[in-house]
Amino acid sequence: MKTFEQIADLERRYLLGTYARYPLVLTRGKGVFLYDLDDRRYLDFVSGIGVNALGHAHPRIVKTIREQAAKLIHVSNLYYHEYQGALAEKLCTLVSRPPAAAGSSEASMGACRAFFSNSGTEAIEGSIKLARLAGHRVGGEAKCRLLALEGSYHGRTFGALSLTGQDKHRKGFEPLLQEVTFVKRNDLEGLRAAVDDDTCAIVLEPIFGEGGIYECSVEFLGECRALADRHRAALIFDEIQCGLGRTGTILAFQAFGVAPDIVAIAKPIAAGLPLGAFIAKEEFANAISPGQHGTTFGGGPLACRVALEFLAIVEEEKLLDNVNKVGRYLNQELTAIAEKSPAAKEARGRGFIQGLNLEVPARPIVDDALAEGVLFNSTQDTVIRFLPPFLLEEKHVDKGMRVLKKLLKKKRKEAA
Ligand SMILES: *Cc1c(COP(=O)(O)O)cnc(C)c1O
Repeated sequence: MKTFEQIADLERRYLLGTYARYPLVLTRGKGVFLYDLDDRRYLDFVSGIGVNALGHAHPRIVKTIREQAAKLIHVSNLYYHEYQGALAEKLCTLVSRPPAAAGSSEASMGACRAFFSNSGTEAIEGSIKLARLAGHRVGGEAKCRLLALEGSYHGRTFGALSLTGQDKHRKGFEPLLQEVTFVKRNDLEGLRAAVDDDTCAIVLEPIFGEGGIYECSVEFLGECRALADRHRAALIFDEIQCGLGRTGTILAFQAFGVAPDIVAIAKPIAAGLPLGAFIAKEEFANAISPGQHGTTFGGGPLACRVALEFLAIVEEEKLLDNVNKVGRYLNQELTAIAEKSPAAKEARGRGFIQGLNLEVPARPIVDDALAEGVLFNSTQDTVIRFLPPFLLEEKHVDKGMRVLKKLLKKKRKEAA
């Protein structure tokens, strides 16, 4: 087997220099654990950035991939296959079903249609293309403006990047789409001032992921809903990171009680295979005609069948109950650390999308955690982000928090 140095060296020589990887080569995984070249074990609080919600090598996913790969992987969207319509039906049912507990009928999208892409970014691109078509239909060419939030993250293509409210991602790539207005998260006044009849879409993450785990308030989301209705604009939720179970409800908007017109999803949907989707209410969905949007790979039989299996496993193994239970425990633990440790400031988020904001840079803590056999992830310089697999148990939280406390204490000693 190749050594770490050989593997890293090849990448240094032949890959575009876009990633600052952690010094770790992963070779296999099982459940909430990953293993490196020396078969050292790591507890996974990252899930490949919120993708591996079923952990690694889930037996039902492995079996499904094996079976389907031996039958049919790709057909293009020129032909039908068994699984794309079935997955669309399942997703449309999920976004239109109010969660039993909340019982809020507002948080239902009603009759919907889905489009399948290969990634989250592409789901955002498709969403804003659809919102443009629907906007032009009711308000002519002028109805083209997009509203997004400062500090947001929606992806790296020109459309998605134009909606991303962070200079560090935008710098060097201008000019981006000119028709985007940014407002501050939870700023009701700013929001009201920015939306008018030329607005075709309001795009936001109900919980900022890459932006540092910040939640939109229910009041803010409700005002977005009201303004979108008044001005016949599309309310688009980017649930690529917070959606599909991570908040403890299948969609985050169900927990907030405010439904969008279009929702974009991706990360965990096909258990690690590339698949994204946007789901649009019928009255927006019917603004598009054959030939106006498409993809070669999106919605193929392998990815769609695996996504159906993913959703079945989440339901049958009652994983949302686990996300709620263990998520509450993780939140208690992080809140206690934020209160007790001088190096930590604030715990944020819910379920299995949580963050701990530090007084010190997060990356060195994440680096040091590797030597302790725990994978964390940092975002926004000072935030440790927790996106564990839905299978995580309280004993795993205990192990992670032990390591985190130890490293925070060490940082404090170094600073003193
Ligand atoms: C990851 C992410 C995206 C982009 O998805 P890709 O699959 O990386 O293209 C967009 N929005 C949010 C909120 C994300 O977390």
